[in-house]
Amino acid sequence: MAGKDDPILVIGGGLGGAAAALALGRKGWRVRVLEQAPEFGVIGYGIQLGPNVFSMFDRLGVTDAVLAHAIVPNAILMIDSVDAGVIARIPTGQSFRARFQRPYIVIHRVDLHRILLDACKTLANVELVPLTGAASYEDLGDRVRVHANDNRTIEGAALIGADGLRSTIRTQMLSEGEPRMTGYVAHRTIVPMAELRADVHRNEVVLWSGPGFHIVHYPLRGGSLFNIVAVFRTSTYAEKGDMAGYRAELDRTYRDSHPAMKALLAMMDLERRWVISDRDPIRHWSQGRVTLLGDAAHPTLQSLAQGACMAIEDAVCLAELIDLAGGDFARAFRQYETARYLRTARVQYESRYLWDNFYHLGGIEREVMRQAWAGRNEQQMFECLAWLYDGFALPDRLGEAA
Ligand SMILES: Cc1cc2nc3c(=O)[nH]c(=O)nc-3n(C[C@H](O)[C@H](O)[C@H](O)COP(=O)(O)OP(=O)(O)OC[C@H]3O[C@@H](n4cnc5c(N)ncnc54)[C@H](O)[C@@H]3O)c2cc1C
Repeated sequence: MAGKDDPILVIGGGLGGAAAALALGRKGWRVRVLEQAPEFGVIGYGIQLGPNVFSMFDRLGVTDAVLAHAIVPNAILMIDSVDAGVIARIPTGQSFRARFQRPYIVIHRVDLHRILLDACKTLANVELVPLTGAASYEDLGDRVRVHANDNRTIEGAALIGADGLRSTIRTQMLSEGEPRMTGYVAHRTIVPMAELRADVHRNEVVLWSGPGFHIVHYPLRGGSLFNIVAVFRTSTYAEKGDMAGYRAELDRTYRDSHPAMKALLAMMDLERRWVISDRDPIRHWSQGRVTLLGDAAHPTLQSLAQGACMAIEDAVCLAELIDLAGGDFARAFRQYETARYLRTARVQYESRYLWDNFYHLGGIEREVMRQAWAGRNEQQMFECLAWLYDGFALPDRLGEAA
């Protein structure tokens, strides 16, 4: 069995990779995180986090730091893009806290990332290695070897692919094609709160929903900033365009929208576009001494705002099992998949369902959906989300060896 000093290699220093490094590092395992970008954690927009992630933050020792940088919104509102009527309201204040014990928060991604990375930096056994993209790996039976893009080789005891939606590690392990394109794209912007029109909800997470498009917005950093995400279906999803082209597309897509929504769209910075993709769930994402986590393992649409939460749950679960298995990585990885695949698959499936049957409907289907949701009270809303927000029970012992 491997000792804790032979490093576990984590490929990708996103939220999932940073959480895995921290979780393992706190248990005394030596970890090397290889990140292709020149800097860790610089891509930043807002992120919503459900109450389920907080018991993971407790394990990582970062709960207070996260709360100090977060905002607890009053509610999540789904609003009709044409008449601004409220379709659904999930209160996220006192009653939510009473039901789920932990809060619903929004936070700047850069702040969350910095909290995780700063905590890693306090551990002598965690090494963060930027500018090191993994090109391929070899499982040598008793160790792993990573070939970096610049031809260096790096060896370790095991490998965790936390390299996101277009994971190099997954591609090599599972020999699959590209992720599933949805035909939707996203643009994200952060603007100063002071520049908003008076009639915008500032203390809620708001989702404006319309046929083939939606906008999400919420406050960040003590209410000084405002995060806006515009998502829509377009035939040009796979093409690179320029800002003028993107602007014309946005104007066309949202032409019948409410004036408040149009005013928000006018504030969007259209420099960068994200193509929205996911994959079908799978049962197995490990082989020998190599496993995956987060978007590399089970990429999801963002309808439930849970991709990062699932990556962090994965990270903490994986660290528990590696530690329990005392370095029998193959055994730990099999149990990790078993512990995680149904919960993450449900997030993937339910996110797709909401995407198609709740967020983006038009015509009579939309009217039926509105009528159906109008009758739901707070308790019913909470119960719909209980499977997710009640959290994930971490394994406290190893199961039978397979
Ligand atoms: C518009 C949008 C809104 C979202 N909103 C939310 C939300 O509100 N709440 C939520 O929980 N989730 C949300 N998500 C999902 C969330 O962003 C992802 O699920 C989450 O970031 C996944 O984390 P990860 O660490 O698995 O992957 P990533 O965050 O993608 O990190 C992967 C890292 O690996 C690095 N990398 C890639 N390839 C290599 C390589 N070959 N070698 C070395 N490094 C490599 C990358 O540079 C990156 O740093 C949203 C997603 C989108 C697109």
